[in-house]
Amino acid sequence: MDMKKKELEALDKAITEFFKDGEIKTVCPRCGGKITVFVEGNSYEVACSTENCIKDVIRGI
Ligand SMILES: [Zn+2]
Repeated sequence: MDMKKKELEALDKAITEFFKDGEIKTVCPRCGGKITVFVEGNSYEVACSTENCIKDVIRGI
């Protein structure tokens, strides 16, 4: 099982939920923690609320 791919998919899903529903139901696939999205300019930072857990920056639109 490709864990990295699974993590990226979860982050991607979290972003979709954030913009579509305004609330993120997806939890961190690594630790089960809450995932948060920060909008900064035209990029998004999507990260687990647990320190030093998964995190990704997506350059937007
Ligand atoms: Zn986590």
